[in-house]
Amino acid sequence: MALFVQKYGGTSVGSVERIEAVADKLQRFREQGHDLVVAVSAMSGETNRLVGLASSIQDAPSLREMDVLLSTGEQVTIALLCMALEKRGIAARSYTGSQVRILTDSSHTKARIQDIDVERIQADIAAGCVVVVAGFQGADAQGNITTLGRGGSDTTGVALAAALKADECQIYTDVDGVYTTDPRVVEGAQRLEKITFEEMLEMASLGSKILQIRSVEFAGKYKVPLRVLSSFEDGPGTLITIEEDDTVEKPVISGIAFNRDEAKLTVLGVPDIPGVASKILGPISRANIEVDMIVQNIAADQTTDFTFTVHRNDYSKAEEILRQVASDLSAREVVGNNKIAKVSIVGVGMRSHAGVATKMFDSLASENINIQMISTSEIKVSVVIAEKYLELAVRGLHSAFELDKVDTVSE
Ligand code: ADP
Ligand code: ASP
Ligand code: MG
Repeated sequence: MALFVQKYGGTSVGSVERIEAVADKLQRFREQGHDLVVAVSAMSGETNRLVGLASSIQDAPSLREMDVLLSTGEQVTIALLCMALEKRGIAARSYTGSQVRILTDSSHTKARIQDIDVERIQADIAAGCVVVVAGFQGADAQGNITTLGRGGSDTTGVALAAALKADECQIYTDVDGVYTTDPRVVEGAQRLEKITFEEMLEMASLGSKILQIRSVEFAGKYKVPLRVLSSFEDGPGTLITIEEDDTVEKPVISGIAFNRDEAKLTVLGVPDIPGVASKILGPISRANIEVDMIVQNIAADQTTDFTFTVHRNDYSKAEEILRQVASDLSAREVVGNNKIAKVSIVGVGMRSHAGVATKMFDSLASENINIQMISTSEIKVSVVIAEKYLELAVRGLHSAFELDKVDTVSE
């Protein structure tokens, strides 16, 4: 007998039939004697539909009202799933995030969980109920509804598991684990039996949408055993592990992540004097725009070029700010490109292997793909390339690093 927190994503609850199938699955766990707390997403497509409704009324609606709107998607699913469980004779109770209560800060549309009140949930479990909680949402100290950012139901699941000290947090989704890269882009992608938190954090932060980055951070911080599995078929899935396994030789690269959500901006002909970087990036950060990669060229003729990337949604705002900054600095020109993509290779094995970046650059060169920016850390190398070459690049790298042959796959 164990306590499992299970999270079912949008596709897994995407229709009444799928919700019934999840209820069947939960019934089997109950028959084995396990206690269950379930976090669910909105039915697939629902959150996007709600975003569309809002933008048909206002370009930039109030974020508080966005959260009231977006949180309704998950409320539908919790009720339907509880009905399906009750139909099977299983006691079940649904709760919205604010009912639980999942206390968050007040950053609407990207709130962070601060605390979870588990008393009510524990009482329900003790009374033999399956508890079904709406993912992706909470409430701030004033009781305002908040949401946790896209993909946030993963974080609800992990945070519940941490608060309840669950035996395992199981993320049920539409693929049967974490793969060497997105299996929808590379046919030969392989499921990993295990991946370390460190690697999973990099993969998530570099664009792999399989887990929201905050869910991985939470799991690492509170040492929650975390597993990604398919809601459609049985299997071991992928375990996110805390310890690196020294007994098996790790592949140098564990996975490839990519991200189409970035845009690049360059200020050309900036005077090469102290304080320029802060004069350029200060106004950007004051506008609450996050900067990812930054490159400053070596100066020629006392001027230099300064390039950085931002989220694509912030592109026009950043460009507008830069035009003002460029004129204040007497820089020559501002140029931008929002048709870029970032491709990253990730692996803890990189620490003990030389030549990984070179191998990456060779692979891209052999496909004639130009590298626009490069950034590295201890366990990753990222490059910015033209978006149109993204899939070609990922496939090329996947075979260059022989990821189609990884032997970490079980069975
Ligand atoms: P859910 O609705 O269940 O939260 P998501 O769409 O958010 O599901 O995440 C699952 C998707 O993540 C998969 O369908 C897959 O296309 C994508 N994905 C991206 N990178 C990976 C990866 N490395 N391994 C597995 N899936 C990945
Ligand atoms: N429904 C939300 C979204 O689509 C949260 C989630 O599915 O995790 O982003
Ligand atoms: Mg998701």
